[in-house]
Amino acid sequence: MSSLLSIQDLKVAFRTGKVDGVQQRALAVKGVSFDIPENSTVALVGESGSGKSVTAMSILNLLPDNAERSGQILFQGRDLLTTPLRQLQGIRGKDIACVFQDPMSSLNPVFTVAQQLSEPLIKHLGLTPRQALARAEELLNEVGIPEPKRRLHAYPHEMSGGQQQRVMIAMALACEPKLLIADEPTTALDVTIQRQVMDLMRKLKDKMRMSMLFISHDLGVVGEISDHVVVMRHGEIREKAPVADIFKAPQDAYTKALLACRP
Ligand code: ADP
Ligand code: MG
Repeated sequence: MSSLLSIQDLKVAFRTGKVDGVQQRALAVKGVSFDIPENSTVALVGESGSGKSVTAMSILNLLPDNAERSGQILFQGRDLLTTPLRQLQGIRGKDIACVFQDPMSSLNPVFTVAQQLSEPLIKHLGLTPRQALARAEELLNEVGIPEPKRRLHAYPHEMSGGQQQRVMIAMALACEPKLLIADEPTTALDVTIQRQVMDLMRKLKDKMRMSMLFISHDLGVVGEISDHVVVMRHGEIREKAPVADIFKAPQDAYTKALLACRP
């Protein structure tokens, strides 16, 4: 099975200011290695502060300026860690797309849903504005937004949190990425809406030939969607295994503790 993305010995440190003229650093990710095979979903789990988001944001270099990364992140044969920003911008949203916990961190409040969905279609796929609008309507329909034609002209704040997250998912999928990074995509939502968005993610996973890095602090949620699980704690990998093994025969004490916490 070939890997779509291969993370090798990733370390991420944050410069946290100077003490007596000496630069201080906090190591958030301490040498993490794992692969995401083609057409499969890898879950990254662990309690808050484990370094899951920092690992995910390293992939597309979305970290703040005080971050320093080392190691390798191989995507289709090239190392994303050393890929120049201009080339990385061509990959972002096209080959690799992201959905974050808070949809409003990615949706622009001053543009309509139609404008935001059209942008990647025009930029990356070369569609005309008219073609992009038609495709945007299809995408809204695919993610289960009722009356998609009408909702195209809504602004993000006119939609519920669950609908905003659906729009984010539609945007992420617009260019049929090879890899979707979903960082706690349901955590900010009400429980019933979480369920609906998870069902949507699972349906899309089965339908589209893409890989996914699915991040959650909740091992129960992860069991529904992933093929492989990577358990992280304090910036290190504690265990990585196929999902069935994690649930049936966890090896690490921390994985066992996470399993015991499930409702
Ligand atoms: P998780 O997603 O697993 O909850 P994060 O990846 O967000 O955890 O954070 C891992 C660690 O990195 C935490 O200790 C956090 O405080 C630290 N961290 C994250 N962003 C920054 C930053 N910009 N500057 C300094 N430390 C940071
Ligand atoms: Mg996080």
